[in-house]
Amino acid sequence: MTSSKDSFGTRAVHAGWVPDEQTGAVMPPICMTSTYVQDAPAQPRNGFEYSRTQNVTRFALQDALADLEGAAAGFTFTSGMAAIHTLMLMLKPGDRIVAGNDLYGGTHRLFTKIAARFGLIFDFVDTTDPAVLASLPSDTRLLYIETPSNPLLNVTSIEAAVKGAKRVGAEVAVDNTFATPALQNPFDFGVDYIIHSTTKYISGHSDVVGGALLVREEGKKEDVWFHQNSAGTVNSPFDAFLTLRGVRTLALRMERHCESAQMLAEFLQDHSSISKVIYPGLASHPHHAIAKDQMRAFGGMVCCELPGGIPQATAFVKHLRLFTLAESLGGVESLIELPAPMTHASVPAAHRRAIGIEDGLVRLSVGIENAEDLRRDLEQALAQVS
Ligand SMILES: *Cc1c(COP(=O)(O)O)cnc(C)c1O
Repeated sequence: MTSSKDSFGTRAVHAGWVPDEQTGAVMPPICMTSTYVQDAPAQPRNGFEYSRTQNVTRFALQDALADLEGAAAGFTFTSGMAAIHTLMLMLKPGDRIVAGNDLYGGTHRLFTKIAARFGLIFDFVDTTDPAVLASLPSDTRLLYIETPSNPLLNVTSIEAAVKGAKRVGAEVAVDNTFATPALQNPFDFGVDYIIHSTTKYISGHSDVVGGALLVREEGKKEDVWFHQNSAGTVNSPFDAFLTLRGVRTLALRMERHCESAQMLAEFLQDHSSISKVIYPGLASHPHHAIAKDQMRAFGGMVCCELPGGIPQATAFVKHLRLFTLAESLGGVESLIELPAPMTHASVPAAHRRAIGIEDGLVRLSVGIENAEDLRRDLEQALAQVS
């Protein structure tokens, strides 16, 4: 049993599960059952009726994530998008959502192409601008931020976001996928919801897609539970098991991701073939001071720009040996991609350019391989395209 005084790394190893009463199992069983026997009509044993509603493996993951984020409760889903979608289902037509203007492409697509069709109103703004946060429309229902953002690694002050939202009576949701609870705890600032694509760092091994929605207040628990169960996008017991397995090493992995990312960002910054490097841990990052304030370390994602646009960026990624060209991020292996034609292709080109996603932008997810090997790989590939 852990206590709230234990450090994050210790809690990550134990959270969500105590050895099973019946068997002593140190890890939860992968409870592959759709239903549970009842002793008499409407008398389920231990409250377990149907697996969409109750599943031991999913509960272990949900409780673990709730512990690590300091949440009243956590709920897990088939994907990050399903978690965000469920949050949208809790709103009603006419509600105004003020959202960051450089969200993950899939989130932008969900908001503009689906949620808007059901009467939700979206304003996309620069949430890194304190003046914007201080003057939210008076009818704002929800402020939705991603920090650091995907892909541009913009950092929004969570404190300023909460202050601005409270002024107009709005709730705040933070997509904490890039930082994870190892680096940043939005609930400490008073946000209402935390979202994760657990596909990324939380599971950490590029072998499962999943999402989570967590609430700070006990009073919001029932509402999310109702929507999770009613809309039904719960993750499978096997996916929950894999994700919890990833959680056990989250602290250890994040340390390595952050250390290597800082080293590679500095290497790229000094390289003559790179026109720009974006990493919150560099003093040159426009929001470095805020990142230092609200994060314990700066994460494993680094972006850089090549002056030759898509052709040069394409040649660069093709010459890499250790970085795999693929979408997604946060796994043990290093990945690399071009946001404009890949992860953020669903964001209209004009909007992409307006917010600074240049064609030659390259996004690196720095894995846990030996950092010097990764540096040498980048060096040889850059030498071939310079
Ligand atoms: C990947 C991602 C999502 C979507 O999650 P899926 O698990 O792919 O559905 C949402 N937000 C951020 C920041 C992401 O990187």
